[in-house]
Amino acid sequence: MKHVPMRSCIVCRECKDKSELLRVVRRPDGAVVIDRTGKEAGRGAYVCKNGDCMATAVKKRVFNRTFKQQLDNSVYDALAAAMEDDGK
Ligand SMILES: [Zn+2]
Repeated sequence: MKHVPMRSCIVCRECKDKSELLRVVRRPDGAVVIDRTGKEAGRGAYVCKNGDCMATAVKKRVFNRTFKQQLDNSVYDALAAAMEDDGK
């Protein structure tokens, strides 16, 4: 049986296949980026690639809490843009 890595969404806490989640990473230099390749080093957090969880993540600024730092609005702008792309 093939092992599928499961990760939990920081909004709804459901465990899902990585392919159904969007990875956001805080890089060692402190920058927080949306990781589309899955290869960025750093501490990762995952959110479902659906409109609801991503919208909640943007609205509640959940990554501020997850990464314990005040994130630049550009991170959330990028997330909102990713939502347009993936949330269909
Ligand atoms: Zn979710």
